Amino acid sequence: MELKDAVVLVTGSSSGIGEATARAAAKAGARVVLLARREDRIASLATELGNALAVPCDVTRPEQVHHAVQSAIERFGRIDALVNNAGQGLHGEIEDIGVDDFRALLDLNLIAPLVLMQAVIPIMRAQGAGSIVNVSSGATLATYPGSAAYTSSKSGLNTLSSVARLELANVGIVVSLMHPFMTATEFYGAVKSGAAAAMAQEADMVSFAHKPELVADMILDLIRTGAAQADLVPAAYGGSFKG
Ligand code: NDP
Repeated sequence: MELKDAVVLVTGSSSGIGEATARAAAKAGARVVLLARREDRIASLATELGNALAVPCDVTRPEQVHHAVQSAIERFGRIDALVNNAGQGLHGEIEDIGVDDFRALLDLNLIAPLVLMQAVIPIMRAQGAGSIVNVSSGATLATYPGSAAYTSSKSGLNTLSSVARLELANVGIVVSLMHPFMTATEFYGAVKSGAAAAMAQEADMVSFAHKPELVADMILDLIRTGAAQADLVPAAYGGSFKG
């Protein structure tokens, strides 16, 4: 898909990978719809980018998602690409995972992307074309202790995406998966629980953390090419990234 003039909706665009993706899409000539809870951040980003719309939205609230999609249609008349990027981590060993925390994580990392897909698919179907990129995690390619809640939520997203890709292949909607590796964002400080362990993990790996702009470029490439997936995960961790 050509990005120039495309309408690209990015969830979680108030920081990190989502913000970088919104900036890169705008630079490529796209019109961008910014969704996140921190209204001040997306409002100022929209002002900076120009041809952009900021819609405060908690993606775990289906009525807010439907309002945001409606706002995008009212402003731009179409949605060409959805980047399901909003997400959160949770660090904790199996015996310690709080069931309520896990449910909330599944709501954000797995159910919300489904609700967003359900909101945009009828629009893309009517257009005869669309691109959906779901941001998963390289941690699903090589798991590690303490990651069970997070990786199982993202592994569910992997399967959701693969099935959606098959189901929508005949209607011109392409579903792709992005697997970032460790990326320098606010992610590790924003985990639902296990912040100390997550920050220690970040400190251990900070020397080879990717910049969010690198992930953003790969997300835009997925929109352009429609490839099934891309990863930034080194071979030692189960991926194909050679950089
Ligand atoms: P950040 O913490 O910087 O960004 C997370 C984004 O998600 C924020 O914009 C936040 O916005 C948004 N968000 C969180 N909860 C909600 C909600 N309920 N409703 C709407 N938006 C929400 O982390 P990253 O940029 O690193 O994370 C982006 C994606 O990349 C996530 O899905 C993450 O799992 C994945 N990823 C990250 C890796 C990393 O090492 N950083 C590695 C692999 C995958 P706000 O708080 O304003 O709502």
